[in-house]
Amino acid sequence: MIRLLFSLVKLFCKIILITLTVVAVLALIAGLTFAVHKIEYSMNEDAWNNGICDCGGKFRFVNASSVKGAGTSYTYYFYSCNDCGNVIKMDFAMRGLN
Ligand SMILES: [Zn+2]
Repeated sequence: MIRLLFSLVKLFCKIILITLTVVAVLALIAGLTFAVHKIEYSMNEDAWNNGICDCGGKFRFVNASSVKGAGTSYTYYFYSCNDCGNVIKMDFAMRGLN
């Protein structure tokens, strides 16, 4: 009877451990995804520079293109400076586009 109880406790501990591991891994993946997204976004923000090009001109939306592969689809947004023609590629549709 004690043996049975002991193995039940062991099983219970195993289940809890596995659950904790799964939760930890999921949290880590979610955290990493969030961090990567945040870094990508801030890099985009830097290039975007509030829609002002290095030359002082304004970026205008020119084109968007979708990349499909492995069950995911990714959209890039292209903006061009209306003064010097500088083209930037964004991972996000930026605010205040015209
Ligand atoms: Zn420019």
